[in-house]
Amino acid sequence: MSCLMVERCGAIAFESPEQNAICFCTLGDAQVRGQAGVLSERRGSFPFIDFRLLNTTANSGEIGTKKKVKRLLSFQRYFHASRLLRGTVPQTSLHLLDEDYLGQAGHMLSKVGTWNFDIFLFDRLTNGNSLVTLLCHLFNTHGLIHHFQLDMVKLHRFLVMVQEDYHNQNPYHNAVHAADVTQAMHCYLKEPKLARYLTPLDIFLGLLAAAAHDVDHPGVNQPFLVKTKHHLASLYQNVSVLENHHWRSTVGMLRESGLLSHLPVEMTQEIEQQLGSLILATDISRQNEFLGSFKIHLDNDALSLEDAEHRHFILQIALKCADICNPCRVWEMSKQWSERVCEEFYRQGDLERKFELEISPLCNQHMDTVPAIQIGFMTYLVEPLFDEWRRFTDNTPLTEAMMSHLRKNKARWRALHHNQHHRGDDGSGQRSEVVEAGP
Ligand SMILES: [Zn+2]
Repeated sequence: MSCLMVERCGAIAFESPEQNAICFCTLGDAQVRGQAGVLSERRGSFPFIDFRLLNTTANSGEIGTKKKVKRLLSFQRYFHASRLLRGTVPQTSLHLLDEDYLGQAGHMLSKVGTWNFDIFLFDRLTNGNSLVTLLCHLFNTHGLIHHFQLDMVKLHRFLVMVQEDYHNQNPYHNAVHAADVTQAMHCYLKEPKLARYLTPLDIFLGLLAAAAHDVDHPGVNQPFLVKTKHHLASLYQNVSVLENHHWRSTVGMLRESGLLSHLPVEMTQEIEQQLGSLILATDISRQNEFLGSFKIHLDNDALSLEDAEHRHFILQIALKCADICNPCRVWEMSKQWSERVCEEFYRQGDLERKFELEISPLCNQHMDTVPAIQIGFMTYLVEPLFDEWRRFTDNTPLTEAMMSHLRKNKARWRALHHNQHHRGDDGSGQRSEVVEAGP
Protein backbone atom coordinates (compact mmCIF):
# COMPACT_ATOMS: atom_id res chain seq x y z
CA MET A 1 0.00 0.00 0.00
CA SER A 2 2.54 2.55 -1.05
CA CYS A 3 1.73 6.13 -1.76
CA LEU A 4 3.02 7.70 -4.91
CA MET A 5 3.92 11.36 -4.77
CA VAL A 6 3.09 12.70 -8.18
CA GLU A 7 3.40 16.44 -7.80
CA ARG A 8 5.24 18.98 -5.71
CA CYS A 9 4.63 22.53 -6.83
CA GLY A 10 2.75 24.54 -4.25
CA ALA A 11 0.56 21.55 -3.63
CA ILE A 12 1.59 18.00 -2.99
CA ALA A 13 -0.61 15.28 -4.32
CA PHE A 14 -0.61 11.63 -3.52
CA GLU A 15 -2.07 8.91 -5.60
CA SER A 16 -3.41 5.75 -4.10
CA PRO A 17 -3.71 3.24 -6.93
CA GLU A 18 -5.48 0.74 -4.68
CA GLN A 19 -8.39 3.07 -4.08
CA ASN A 20 -8.18 4.91 -7.38
CA ALA A 21 -8.36 8.02 -5.25
CA ILE A 22 -6.30 11.14 -4.91
CA CYS A 23 -5.56 12.90 -1.72
CA PHE A 24 -3.46 15.99 -1.46
CA CYS A 25 -2.20 18.64 0.81
CA THR A 26 -0.63 22.01 0.41
CA LEU A 27 3.05 22.63 0.86
CA GLY A 28 4.04 22.62 4.49
CA ASP A 29 1.58 19.92 5.42
CA ALA A 30 4.04 17.30 4.24
CA GLN A 31 2.76 13.87 5.01
CA VAL A 32 2.90 10.41 3.62
CA ARG A 33 0.73 7.45 4.05
CA GLY A 34 0.88 5.74 7.40
CA GLN A 35 1.90 2.13 7.65
CA ALA A 36 -1.51 1.16 8.92
CA GLY A 37 -3.14 3.27 6.23
CA VAL A 38 -6.15 4.25 8.30
CA LEU A 39 -6.51 6.54 11.24
CA SER A 40 -7.89 5.04 14.37
CA GLU A 41 -9.06 8.36 15.76
CA ARG A 42 -11.08 11.24 14.27
CA ARG A 43 -10.20 11.45 10.60
CA GLY A 44 -9.57 14.86 9.13
CA SER A 45 -9.94 16.11 5.62
CA PHE A 46 -6.45 14.72 4.90
CA PRO A 47 -6.70 10.97 5.04
CA PHE A 48 -3.07 9.95 5.28
CA ILE A 49 -0.90 10.39 8.33
CA ASP A 50 2.68 9.26 8.67
CA PHE A 51 2.86 7.28 11.86
CA ARG A 52 6.63 7.02 11.47
CA LEU A 53 6.85 10.82 11.53
CA LEU A 54 4.72 10.93 14.64
CA ASN A 55 6.91 8.36 16.34
CA THR A 56 10.06 10.28 15.46
CA THR A 57 8.59 13.44 16.90
CA ALA A 58 7.38 11.62 19.94
CA ASN A 59 10.89 10.42 20.65
CA SER A 60 12.40 13.85 20.28
CA GLY A 61 11.72 14.71 23.86
CA GLU A 62 9.09 17.40 23.88
CA ILE A 63 6.22 15.10 23.16
CA GLY A 64 6.62 11.74 24.75
CA THR A 65 3.54 10.30 26.35
CA LYS A 66 1.13 7.99 24.59
CA LYS A 67 -1.65 10.47 25.25
CA LYS A 68 0.25 13.28 23.58
CA VAL A 69 1.13 11.16 20.57
CA LYS A 70 -2.56 10.43 20.19
CA ARG A 71 -3.27 14.16 20.16
CA LEU A 72 -0.93 14.48 17.19
CA LEU A 73 -3.24 12.43 15.05
CA SER A 74 -4.88 15.67 14.05
CA PHE A 75 -1.88 16.72 12.05
CA GLN A 76 -3.12 20.26 11.60
CA ARG A 77 -2.70 20.63 15.31
CA TYR A 78 0.68 18.98 15.14
CA PHE A 79 2.20 20.93 12.30
CA HIS A 80 0.74 24.21 13.38
CA ALA A 81 1.09 23.77 17.10
CA SER A 82 1.82 27.22 18.36
CA ARG A 83 3.66 28.24 21.43
CA LEU A 84 0.22 28.63 22.96
CA LEU A 85 -0.24 24.89 22.99
CA ARG A 86 3.25 24.12 24.16
CA GLY A 87 3.38 26.73 26.85
CA THR A 88 1.15 27.60 29.72
CA VAL A 89 -2.42 28.50 29.00
CA PRO A 90 -3.05 32.17 29.59
CA GLN A 91 -6.10 33.38 31.39
CA THR A 92 -7.09 35.97 28.86
CA SER A 93 -6.55 36.19 25.16
CA LEU A 94 -4.55 39.37 25.18
CA HIS A 95 -1.81 37.70 27.18
CA LEU A 96 -1.04 35.72 24.04
CA LEU A 97 0.23 38.75 22.25
CA ASP A 98 3.74 40.06 22.00
CA GLU A 99 4.17 43.14 24.15
CA ASP A 100 4.69 45.46 21.20
CA TYR A 101 1.42 44.46 19.60
CA LEU A 102 -0.73 44.13 22.68
CA GLY A 103 -1.76 47.76 22.71
CA GLN A 104 -2.62 47.89 19.02
CA ALA A 105 -4.57 44.62 19.03
CA GLY A 106 -6.38 45.68 22.18
CA HIS A 107 -7.24 48.99 20.58
CA MET A 108 -8.59 47.18 17.54
CA LEU A 109 -10.78 44.98 19.76
CA SER A 110 -12.39 48.09 21.17
CA LYS A 111 -13.74 48.66 17.65
CA VAL A 112 -14.60 45.06 16.84
CA GLY A 113 -18.21 45.98 16.12
CA THR A 114 -17.36 48.33 13.25
CA TRP A 115 -17.80 47.15 9.69
CA ASN A 116 -14.41 48.35 8.44
CA PHE A 117 -12.57 46.23 11.02
CA ASP A 118 -9.37 45.05 9.31
CA ILE A 119 -9.15 41.35 10.11
CA PHE A 120 -5.90 40.96 8.15
CA LEU A 121 -4.18 43.58 10.30
CA PHE A 122 -5.70 42.07 13.43
CA ASP A 123 -4.34 38.67 12.46
CA ARG A 124 -0.85 40.11 12.06
CA LEU A 125 -1.04 41.96 15.37
CA THR A 126 -2.08 38.76 17.14
CA ASN A 127 0.69 36.66 15.56
CA GLY A 128 -1.82 34.63 13.57
CA ASN A 129 -4.13 34.09 16.54
CA SER A 130 -6.99 36.25 15.35
CA LEU A 131 -9.64 33.58 15.77
CA VAL A 132 -8.71 32.62 19.35
CA THR A 133 -8.22 36.23 20.42
CA LEU A 134 -11.42 37.44 18.80
CA LEU A 135 -13.57 34.63 20.23
CA CYS A 136 -12.19 35.02 23.76
CA HIS A 137 -12.95 38.72 23.56
CA LEU A 138 -16.45 38.30 22.14
CA PHE A 139 -17.41 35.53 24.56
CA ASN A 140 -16.31 37.79 27.36
CA THR A 141 -18.02 40.98 26.15
CA HIS A 142 -21.27 39.13 25.43
CA GLY A 143 -21.19 37.75 28.98
CA LEU A 144 -21.18 34.16 27.73
CA ILE A 145 -18.31 32.99 29.93
CA HIS A 146 -20.20 34.11 33.00
CA HIS A 147 -23.63 32.98 31.79
CA PHE A 148 -22.56 29.44 30.86
CA GLN A 149 -19.97 29.27 33.66
CA LEU A 150 -17.31 28.37 31.09
CA ASP A 151 -13.91 27.24 32.28
CA MET A 152 -11.39 29.65 30.73
CA VAL A 153 -8.71 26.98 30.33
CA LYS A 154 -11.14 24.64 28.56
CA LEU A 155 -12.47 27.49 26.44
CA HIS A 156 -9.00 28.46 25.39
CA ARG A 157 -8.05 24.86 24.67
CA PHE A 158 -11.14 24.43 22.51
CA LEU A 159 -10.58 27.65 20.57
CA VAL A 160 -6.94 26.77 19.92
CA MET A 161 -8.06 23.37 18.61
CA VAL A 162 -10.52 25.03 16.24
CA GLN A 163 -7.98 27.58 15.03
CA GLU A 164 -5.30 24.95 14.54
CA ASP A 165 -7.63 22.68 12.60
CA TYR A 166 -8.02 25.33 9.91
CA HIS A 167 -5.44 24.94 7.15
CA ASN A 168 -3.45 28.12 6.98
CA GLN A 169 -2.04 26.98 3.62
CA ASN A 170 -5.47 27.50 2.10
CA PRO A 171 -5.51 30.93 0.49
CA TYR A 172 -9.15 31.42 1.47
CA HIS A 173 -10.64 28.75 3.73
CA ASN A 174 -8.32 29.39 6.67
CA ALA A 175 -8.65 30.65 10.24
CA VAL A 176 -8.62 34.29 9.12
CA HIS A 177 -11.75 33.65 7.03
CA ALA A 178 -13.32 32.10 10.14
CA ALA A 179 -12.35 35.15 12.19
CA ASP A 180 -13.73 37.44 9.48
CA VAL A 181 -17.07 35.60 9.41
CA THR A 182 -17.20 35.70 13.22
CA GLN A 183 -16.59 39.45 13.25
CA ALA A 184 -19.34 39.94 10.66
CA MET A 185 -21.65 37.73 12.70
CA HIS A 186 -20.94 39.85 15.77
CA CYS A 187 -21.98 42.94 13.78
CA TYR A 188 -25.19 41.26 12.62
CA LEU A 189 -26.08 40.09 16.12
CA LYS A 190 -26.02 43.75 17.18
CA GLU A 191 -28.65 44.75 14.61
CA PRO A 192 -31.52 46.27 16.63
CA LYS A 193 -34.18 44.17 14.92
CA LEU A 194 -32.44 41.06 16.17
CA ALA A 195 -30.42 42.02 19.25
CA ARG A 196 -33.29 42.65 21.63
CA TYR A 197 -34.65 39.13 21.16
CA LEU A 198 -31.42 37.17 21.30
CA THR A 199 -30.76 34.93 24.28
CA PRO A 200 -27.24 34.12 25.51
CA LEU A 201 -27.66 30.68 23.89
CA ASP A 202 -28.47 32.28 20.51
CA ILE A 203 -25.36 34.47 20.72
CA PHE A 204 -23.20 31.57 21.86
CA LEU A 205 -24.41 29.42 18.97
CA GLY A 206 -24.10 32.20 16.42
CA LEU A 207 -20.50 33.02 17.32
CA LEU A 208 -19.46 29.39 17.73
CA ALA A 209 -20.99 28.38 14.39
CA ALA A 210 -19.29 31.29 12.66
CA ALA A 211 -15.91 30.41 14.17
CA ALA A 212 -16.11 26.72 13.32
CA HIS A 213 -18.18 26.72 10.12
CA ASP A 214 -15.27 25.80 7.80
CA VAL A 215 -12.96 23.99 10.20
CA ASP A 216 -10.54 21.50 8.58
CA HIS A 217 -11.61 22.69 5.11
CA PRO A 218 -9.37 20.90 2.59
CA GLY A 219 -9.31 23.81 0.11
CA VAL A 220 -11.33 22.00 -2.55
CA ASN A 221 -15.08 21.76 -3.06
CA GLN A 222 -17.53 18.92 -2.68
CA PRO A 223 -17.57 17.87 -6.36
CA PHE A 224 -13.81 17.43 -6.16
CA LEU A 225 -14.12 15.20 -3.10
CA VAL A 226 -16.85 13.19 -4.79
CA LYS A 227 -15.01 12.61 -8.04
CA THR A 228 -11.76 11.72 -6.28
CA LYS A 229 -13.60 9.28 -3.99
CA HIS A 230 -12.47 11.05 -0.83
CA HIS A 231 -13.45 9.22 2.35
CA LEU A 232 -15.52 12.20 3.53
CA ALA A 233 -17.71 12.05 0.41
CA SER A 234 -18.37 8.40 1.12
CA LEU A 235 -18.93 9.03 4.84
CA TYR A 236 -21.56 11.70 4.23
CA GLN A 237 -22.99 10.08 1.10
CA ASN A 238 -22.20 13.05 -1.12
CA VAL A 239 -24.59 15.35 0.78
CA SER A 240 -23.25 18.56 2.33
CA VAL A 241 -19.98 16.68 2.66
CA LEU A 242 -17.82 19.59 3.81
CA GLU A 243 -20.44 21.16 6.04
CA ASN A 244 -21.14 17.85 7.76
CA HIS A 245 -17.43 17.44 8.32
CA HIS A 246 -17.07 20.96 9.75
CA TRP A 247 -19.96 20.26 12.12
CA ARG A 248 -18.88 16.82 13.26
CA SER A 249 -15.28 18.02 13.72
CA THR A 250 -16.55 20.85 15.91
CA VAL A 251 -18.62 18.47 18.00
CA GLY A 252 -15.55 16.27 18.40
CA MET A 253 -13.49 19.19 19.63
CA LEU A 254 -16.24 20.38 21.97
CA ARG A 255 -16.31 16.95 23.57
CA GLU A 256 -12.53 16.54 23.59
CA SER A 257 -12.04 19.90 25.28
CA GLY A 258 -14.77 19.24 27.84
CA LEU A 259 -15.95 22.84 27.35
CA LEU A 260 -19.60 21.96 27.92
CA SER A 261 -19.11 18.93 30.14
CA HIS A 262 -20.55 20.73 33.17
CA LEU A 263 -23.87 21.39 31.41
CA PRO A 264 -26.87 19.01 31.47
CA VAL A 265 -26.60 16.40 28.74
CA GLU A 266 -29.90 17.53 27.16
CA MET A 267 -28.47 21.01 26.80
CA THR A 268 -25.21 19.88 25.20
CA GLN A 269 -27.17 17.70 22.78
CA GLU A 270 -29.34 20.67 21.89
CA ILE A 271 -26.26 22.84 21.36
CA GLU A 272 -24.64 20.22 19.13
CA GLN A 273 -27.79 19.84 17.03
CA GLN A 274 -28.34 23.56 16.59
CA LEU A 275 -24.68 24.01 15.75
CA GLY A 276 -25.14 21.45 13.00
CA SER A 277 -28.23 23.14 11.66
CA LEU A 278 -26.38 26.47 11.50
CA ILE A 279 -23.22 25.12 9.88
CA LEU A 280 -25.18 23.02 7.37
CA ALA A 281 -27.02 26.19 6.31
CA THR A 282 -23.74 27.51 4.88
CA ASP A 283 -23.91 24.91 2.09
CA ILE A 284 -24.15 27.27 -0.85
CA SER A 285 -26.06 24.68 -2.86
CA ARG A 286 -28.97 25.23 -0.46
CA GLN A 287 -29.01 28.98 -1.09
CA ASN A 288 -32.33 28.99 -2.97
CA GLU A 289 -34.02 26.93 -0.30
CA PHE A 290 -33.10 29.45 2.42
CA LEU A 291 -33.65 32.49 0.22
CA GLY A 292 -37.13 31.25 -0.73
CA SER A 293 -38.12 30.73 2.91
CA PHE A 294 -36.67 34.10 3.89
CA LYS A 295 -38.66 35.87 1.16
CA ILE A 296 -41.91 34.14 2.15
CA HIS A 297 -41.41 35.08 5.80
CA LEU A 298 -40.71 38.70 4.89
CA ASP A 299 -43.56 38.93 2.34
CA ASN A 300 -46.01 37.64 4.92
CA ASP A 301 -44.50 39.61 7.78
CA ALA A 302 -44.43 36.25 9.50
CA LEU A 303 -41.22 36.45 11.50
CA SER A 304 -41.83 36.41 15.21
CA LEU A 305 -38.48 36.61 16.94
CA GLU A 306 -39.92 35.72 20.33
CA ASP A 307 -40.18 32.29 18.74
CA ALA A 308 -36.96 30.28 19.18
CA GLU A 309 -37.40 28.55 15.82
CA HIS A 310 -37.67 31.86 14.00
CA ARG A 311 -34.61 33.19 15.81
CA HIS A 312 -32.73 30.07 14.75
CA PHE A 313 -33.78 30.64 11.15
CA ILE A 314 -32.52 34.23 11.26
CA LEU A 315 -29.27 33.00 12.79
CA GLN A 316 -28.93 30.66 9.82
CA ILE A 317 -29.52 33.56 7.43
CA ALA A 318 -27.13 35.81 9.38
CA LEU A 319 -24.41 33.16 9.20
CA LYS A 320 -25.00 32.75 5.46
CA CYS A 321 -24.70 36.52 5.05
CA ALA A 322 -21.54 36.62 7.17
CA ASP A 323 -20.05 33.78 5.12
CA ILE A 324 -20.45 35.58 1.79
CA CYS A 325 -20.13 39.18 2.95
CA ASN A 326 -16.71 39.76 1.40
CA PRO A 327 -18.13 41.82 -1.50
CA CYS A 328 -19.84 44.06 1.09
CA ARG A 329 -16.54 45.04 2.74
CA VAL A 330 -14.44 48.05 1.82
CA TRP A 331 -12.65 47.55 -1.51
CA GLU A 332 -9.18 46.96 -0.10
CA MET A 333 -10.31 44.04 2.02
CA SER A 334 -12.94 42.82 -0.42
CA LYS A 335 -10.36 42.64 -3.21
CA GLN A 336 -7.98 40.60 -1.04
CA TRP A 337 -10.68 38.06 -0.27
CA SER A 338 -11.65 37.87 -3.94
CA GLU A 339 -8.10 37.16 -5.00
CA ARG A 340 -7.69 34.58 -2.25
CA VAL A 341 -10.83 32.64 -3.10
CA CYS A 342 -9.95 32.62 -6.80
CA GLU A 343 -6.43 31.43 -5.98
CA GLU A 344 -7.98 28.52 -4.09
CA PHE A 345 -10.26 27.75 -7.05
CA TYR A 346 -7.30 27.86 -9.44
CA ARG A 347 -5.29 25.48 -7.25
CA GLN A 348 -8.14 23.01 -7.46
CA GLY A 349 -8.30 23.53 -11.23
CA ASP A 350 -4.57 22.93 -11.52
CA LEU A 351 -4.91 19.65 -9.62
CA GLU A 352 -7.81 18.62 -11.84
CA ARG A 353 -5.79 19.42 -14.95
CA LYS A 354 -2.81 17.50 -13.60
CA PHE A 355 -4.90 14.42 -12.95
CA GLU A 356 -6.82 14.79 -16.19
CA LEU A 357 -10.08 15.34 -14.38
CA GLU A 358 -12.70 17.69 -15.73
CA ILE A 359 -11.84 21.19 -14.55
CA SER A 360 -14.58 22.47 -12.25
CA PRO A 361 -16.50 25.67 -13.03
CA LEU A 362 -14.61 28.83 -11.94
CA CYS A 363 -11.41 26.83 -11.41
CA ASN A 364 -9.70 27.31 -14.77
CA GLN A 365 -7.19 30.11 -14.35
CA HIS A 366 -6.76 30.36 -18.11
CA MET A 367 -10.47 31.01 -18.67
CA ASP A 368 -12.08 32.24 -15.46
CA THR A 369 -10.84 35.68 -14.52
CA VAL A 370 -11.13 37.13 -11.03
CA PRO A 371 -13.44 39.98 -12.16
CA ALA A 372 -15.76 37.59 -14.03
CA ILE A 373 -15.95 35.21 -11.06
CA GLN A 374 -16.65 38.07 -8.66
CA ILE A 375 -19.32 39.69 -10.81
CA GLY A 376 -21.13 36.36 -11.14
CA PHE A 377 -20.80 35.69 -7.40
CA MET A 378 -22.23 39.11 -6.55
CA THR A 379 -25.04 38.92 -9.10
CA TYR A 380 -26.33 35.46 -8.36
CA LEU A 381 -25.52 34.86 -4.70
CA VAL A 382 -24.62 37.97 -2.73
CA GLU A 383 -27.09 40.56 -4.05
CA PRO A 384 -30.22 38.35 -3.79
CA LEU A 385 -29.38 37.41 -0.20
CA PHE A 386 -28.43 40.90 0.96
CA ASP A 387 -31.48 42.46 -0.74
CA GLU A 388 -33.61 40.34 1.58
CA TRP A 389 -31.35 41.00 4.58
CA ARG A 390 -31.89 44.71 3.95
CA ARG A 391 -35.64 44.17 4.03
CA PHE A 392 -35.27 42.32 7.32
CA THR A 393 -33.05 44.87 9.06
CA ASP A 394 -35.00 47.91 7.80
CA ASN A 395 -32.12 49.77 6.19
CA THR A 396 -29.90 50.18 9.21
CA PRO A 397 -26.63 52.12 8.84
CA LEU A 398 -24.73 48.82 8.70
CA THR A 399 -26.91 47.45 5.91
CA GLU A 400 -26.69 50.71 4.00
CA ALA A 401 -22.89 50.64 4.30
CA MET A 402 -22.74 47.04 3.11
CA MET A 403 -25.00 47.69 0.12
CA SER A 404 -22.99 50.76 -0.78
CA HIS A 405 -19.72 48.77 -0.74
CA LEU A 406 -21.39 46.02 -2.75
CA ARG A 407 -22.45 48.47 -5.46
CA LYS A 408 -19.06 50.17 -5.62
CA ASN A 409 -17.10 46.93 -5.56
CA LYS A 410 -19.19 45.46 -8.35
CA ALA A 411 -18.60 48.58 -10.41
CA ARG A 412 -14.87 48.25 -9.88
CA TRP A 413 -14.86 44.60 -10.92
CA ARG A 414 -16.89 45.55 -13.99
CA ALA A 415 -14.37 48.20 -14.90
CA LEU A 416 -11.52 45.73 -14.43
CA HIS A 417 -13.39 43.13 -16.46
CA HIS A 418 -13.92 45.68 -19.20
CA ASN A 419 -10.26 46.60 -19.20
CA GLN A 420 -9.29 42.94 -19.48
CA HIS A 421 -11.66 42.07 -22.25
CA HIS A 422 -12.40 45.42 -23.89
CA ARG A 423 -16.10 44.79 -23.53
CA GLY A 424 -18.83 45.35 -20.95
CA ASP A 425 -19.96 41.78 -20.31
CA ASP A 426 -20.86 41.49 -16.62
CA GLY A 427 -20.39 37.74 -16.57
CA SER A 428 -24.11 37.10 -16.49
CA GLY A 429 -24.43 36.93 -20.24
CA GLN A 430 -26.00 40.36 -20.40
CA ARG A 431 -24.38 43.51 -21.60
CA SER A 432 -23.93 46.02 -18.85
CA GLU A 433 -22.84 49.55 -18.55
CA VAL A 434 -19.27 50.06 -17.42
CA VAL A 435 -19.32 52.33 -14.43
CA GLU A 436 -16.47 54.55 -13.42
CA ALA A 437 -15.60 53.12 -10.04
CA GLY A 438 -14.49 55.25 -7.13
CA PRO A 439 -12.35 54.11 -4.18
ZN1 LIG B 1 -16.91 29.99 4.95
